[in-house]
Amino acid sequence: MSELKIVIVGHVDHGKSTLIGRLLADTGSVPDDRIEAVRRRCVDQGKDMEYAFLLDALEEEQAQGITLDTTRIQFHSAQRNYVIIDAPGHKEFLKNMISGASDADAAFLLIDAEEGVREQTRRHATILKLLGIRQIHVVINKMDLVGYEQAVFEQIVAVCTDALAQVELQALSYIPMAAKHGENILARSAHLDWYQGRTLIETIDTLKAQHPEADAPTRLPVQDIYKFDHRRIVAGRLESGTLQVGDTIVCWPQGTRTRIKSLESWQRNQPLTTLTAGMSVGVTLEDPVFLQRGTVIAREEAPPLVGDHLKVTIYWLGQQPLRAGKRYTIKLTTQETTCEVAAIDHVYDSSDLSTADALDQVPTNFVGEVTLRTKQPLAFDLFTQVAETGRFVILDGFEVSGGGSIVGLADAVNQAK
Ligand code: GDP
Repeated sequence: MSELKIVIVGHVDHGKSTLIGRLLADTGSVPDDRIEAVRRRCVDQGKDMEYAFLLDALEEEQAQGITLDTTRIQFHSAQRNYVIIDAPGHKEFLKNMISGASDADAAFLLIDAEEGVREQTRRHATILKLLGIRQIHVVINKMDLVGYEQAVFEQIVAVCTDALAQVELQALSYIPMAAKHGENILARSAHLDWYQGRTLIETIDTLKAQHPEADAPTRLPVQDIYKFDHRRIVAGRLESGTLQVGDTIVCWPQGTRTRIKSLESWQRNQPLTTLTAGMSVGVTLEDPVFLQRGTVIAREEAPPLVGDHLKVTIYWLGQQPLRAGKRYTIKLTTQETTCEVAAIDHVYDSSDLSTADALDQVPTNFVGEVTLRTKQPLAFDLFTQVAETGRFVILDGFEVSGGGSIVGLADAVNQAK
């Protein structure tokens, strides 16, 4: 069974690392000697135990093997395995979230009880909305700093409910907590006896996988093509749906039709007959149809959209504003091509959703509703239909500078040949 993917977002210093460290320690997901080593280091420095350092220590250990700025932190409850998708640094975190590396099933929005909802909290909410993450719980941390007062908690709940409603989101629950002291993570706390709801771990165990991917249309973006024993093996990750030997498929955007001859697994020797979403595989095809990296294989009956004019919602992180007429690179699954902004219809600030006056650019940390014109036609879906092929990343030079979701198309053709 695949792990459930969680993101924890929140303003810097509100306690994200402490919460993650504590979650790892309290669930027994890291060996005791690691925790002890961190405790000793803190004592040597004359400090209280800092669970956030546990995360740093694990990140240092993992760093060698990691090329992306992504960190996958695994932990388990008594019920299930989980992975927290994390990235050190605020900027990297946003890029990571936006680039879809973090196609999380659920998000926890963390708020410092002393500080309340801040600008970054609001920006994060906007991104969660843009990414289509619907399972959102809010953690109100550092309750010890406000005397564990229920009134403070309620007040933040009210402000946060409004902030989320602004971006048409609703939290499933609000959890008061003191991560530093391990209160309401696994153990309940006498200080918070007015709270009858679920602890963090109980909440985590209620989460559901976001996409029932097997029901979704089949999308296999081609990563590579290998020649092997005179056979041509098409490799990729099945992003959604299922695929079986004998299925009639169409390769997009070309629109050429053929059938699946065989499925090749990298791991096993046994022949595979059915693929399910999330598997990385190779396939061979009945006919020598034209294919290249970026081609999207779909079942005949549920084609993707194909076109070179996409209506998108984009979150912009670039140092330079996104400008009409300038050339960028768009990456959508394994497809990559040059694109230009053809029109900017709406621009708003991600922190307060106020509309910007000028429509000739999208400044950093603003959201734009824009039309992109791509050099090559792309095969894609509306984000609301197939999230994996409905989101994209924009590069300015080599820098990930923005990303978002496809909300419509200005024109499209998807006639199979
Ligand atoms: P991050 O930037 O969101 O990852 O925040 P950290 O986890 O590094 O925490 C920032 C500071 O807040 C550290 O000094 C923590 O010890 C402190 N902190 C975290 N959680 C709590 C809490 O529940 N109570 C108190 N009093 N301090 C906390």
